Amino acid sequence: MSEYVAELGQELLRSITRVETLINETGDVVLIRDTYNNILDINLKNVDELFGYNVEELLKKPGSIRYADVEEYEHIEQMIKKNMHITHYKTQIISKDNKLVDVHLSLLPLKDSQGKNIGRVEIYKDISLISTLERELKESYEKLNTAYVTLKELDHIKSEFIDIIAHELRTPLTAIIGYNDLLELNRDKNLTDNQKQYLQVIRRHAHELNKLVTDMLDVSSIETKQISLAIEPIEISEIVYDVLNKLEPLATERQLNITYEISDDLPIIRIDKHKISQTFFNLISNAIKYNIDNGKITITIEYRESKLYVEITDTGIGIPSYQLPEIFNPFYMGDASLTRETGKTGIGLYVAKGNVEIHGGSIGVESVEGLGSVFHFTLPVNKKL
Ligand code: ADP
Repeated sequence: MSEYVAELGQELLRSITRVETLINETGDVVLIRDTYNNILDINLKNVDELFGYNVEELLKKPGSIRYADVEEYEHIEQMIKKNMHITHYKTQIISKDNKLVDVHLSLLPLKDSQGKNIGRVEIYKDISLISTLERELKESYEKLNTAYVTLKELDHIKSEFIDIIAHELRTPLTAIIGYNDLLELNRDKNLTDNQKQYLQVIRRHAHELNKLVTDMLDVSSIETKQISLAIEPIEISEIVYDVLNKLEPLATERQLNITYEISDDLPIIRIDKHKISQTFFNLISNAIKYNIDNGKITITIEYRESKLYVEITDTGIGIPSYQLPEIFNPFYMGDASLTRETGKTGIGLYVAKGNVEIHGGSIGVESVEGLGSVFHFTLPVNKKL
């Protein structure tokens, strides 16, 4: 029997050591008080770090632990009197050198075997580091938010600016193109060979400028969300053949092989013809522009689960993976060495995306640098627009 008691005693000792080790590992300060507020015991390891007092001071002057908010402390005292458990109560205590320390306080009433209150366990967890981080995080969030609001305002001003400039440019440009066309119509009669050449140069540049202006207006209408749609029932294949017709000279110049797999039984779709043509035009003209000579382009359109799935695959230069997240942003033009070419604005993909999304679809790209790209987009067929 006495062996059994000794064994139990050993086991109890081992348990206490384990509990003590655990408490010390948590970095919390644990102290035990009697009902007269005397401190009976403190775990030694962490006490200096939290209050600035050493154990002897605290044992001698149990009132050393002061709460920053006296009313709050009284409230806690009331709770203790009512034998309530308190866990992770966020409060502040005043350290020996009068600094405020953020803590999580837990209080557990201690009772004897008859259930009589004999004191309490107080556990203090220093959360000043977490609080500082929380404060810093909040400050950073507020700064970011202010920057975001400012940026949004600037972005709005920029969109308005683009819109005004584009509209201002359009009128003189229309006049330049119109009068140039008139002069070209009369060229056989009055113009010298040199003058005819000049007219061709003016026409080419005026049309490039006109495309830029149209792109700018498209950007501003997407950004200000002022896109009006002219919805009509369309056979999507019509749009593709039409766009391929327009782009044929460019593809032939690069000796590209364009194939398409478009099922005959695609449903009629209700869309804005101009906008979806523009999307096909931008994607296919890119597949031509960024292809290699003698390269290939494949266009496939399938119908599944109430959506048209379009894929435009090319065997071109591909897009480096670090550029992929940026590629649909306005004015993004990929590799700087290529961006000096005329006719590049970095707007085509942005407009293509805006046009697809306004129809309730989505657009994406997969690409391997040096091997080629697959641009794909969907268009919902039954969407009420
Ligand atoms: P732009 O062609 O006028 O520069 P886009 O918005 O159409 O503008 O394209 C943005 C950029 O994305 C291009 O400058 C190019 O770097 C890249 N890009 C677009 N399409 C392709 C493609 N099919 N293959 C490789 N790069 C492409």
